[in-house]
Amino acid sequence: MPDDQVVLITPHRVAMRGTESKPTRCNALLGDVGQGVRCTLYEQRSSTCREFEASWANGEHNPHCDAARSAHGLPPLMPPVLPSVSPERVA
Ligand code: SF4
Repeated sequence: MPDDQVVLITPHRVAMRGTESKPTRCNALLGDVGQGVRCTLYEQRSSTCREFEASWANGEHNPHCDAARSAHGLPPLMPPVLPSVSPERVA
């Protein structure tokens, strides 16, 4: 992570610049939340970012995802609806 993209929050920990205070917006985030965004440091993003999963991305609900979306006025993500398979279609 480039040093100029982080801010020291304790003697041994850093946070992405822009996430250390409210309203929170990471400086590496490009675009408009709710419209289209991308991480400009995606390949270099921190372990915290790498470990954060959007709800249902791996089949599991993430309440922190709901909270982050809610902070921006967005509804929680819903689990994918799998197409039903009728017995006649199963060979
Ligand atoms: S994934 Fe990228 S934009 Fe999102 S918090 Fe991490 S560094 Fe910032």
